[in-house]
Amino acid sequence: MKKVCVITGGSSGIGLSIVKLFVENDYLVFNLDLSPSLLGADFKSEYRQCDVTNIDQVTKIITDIAKQHTIDVLVSNAGIHFSANIENTSEADLDKVFNINVKGAYAAIKAVLPSMKAHNNGSILLMASDQALIAKHNSFAYNLSKSALASIAKTTALDYASFNIRANAVCPGTIETPLYHQAIDNYCQRSGANKAEVHQEEANLQPLQRLGQPEEVAELVLFLASDKAKFITGSLQVIDGGYTAQ
Ligand code: NAP
Repeated sequence: MKKVCVITGGSSGIGLSIVKLFVENDYLVFNLDLSPSLLGADFKSEYRQCDVTNIDQVTKIITDIAKQHTIDVLVSNAGIHFSANIENTSEADLDKVFNINVKGAYAAIKAVLPSMKAHNNGSILLMASDQALIAKHNSFAYNLSKSALASIAKTTALDYASFNIRANAVCPGTIETPLYHQAIDNYCQRSGANKAEVHQEEANLQPLQRLGQPEEVAELVLFLASDKAKFITGSLQVIDGGYTAQ
């Protein structure tokens, strides 16, 4: 029988690479996202239209999946970037980032736990960031949200270890995805900087002198979800080309 993975935000970027790799590795994947990926059908995943800020909707979709399937893996990946210091972050901005990045994860985890507890098995992956470990300029709300996800990985790991449920945070550095390009575009629009130059500068900031690729993050997630990682829980797994080692 196929293992089952539920992922949020699987229609783009890192999430899309995770969907593709898990399908290739014989998982049945349910992708909960605002809209489907154009490539989704090729990856033979199941798409469910979902806004992770709507807790009732997340709960209903996951509960319905759990009625028919044993959920083995949750990848809470949906997230947005927001670039501003604390003074330039309105309460509405803070709420938006927190509702998607943190409350979306809270909703998905709460919804999968009954199924995982019933089967005494489960692996929960939270897509945090290198910003769960370090600060970056103009990143007040995003940094806060990613630190919160690291905390959720640790508390969930402790509270559900007795059910053989593992929880880990994945902490990517700068990964070349639509979210990355949007952040660079916004910066260039504000500052008038040249995008190619900014992109090169970003690469130069990494000890490995390049940005990460979503497929590389997906490989880490697949490993952490698998039994090969069965002694890993409550951890923050950095994948950043050496950025946070500096
Ligand atoms: P992405 O390409 O923008 O993909 C994010 C996906 O989440 C999109 O499909 C997006 O849908 C979806 N999404 C956004 N809001 C949602 C909502 N309310 N409900 C359901 N789905 C929603 O971003 P990415 O770069 O792959 O990032 C994925 C995760 O990795 C995020 O949590 C991000 O913070 C984290 N991360 C990224 C980097 C990086 O450098 N790229 C580094 C560290 C961590 P729409 O496209 O329709 O909005």
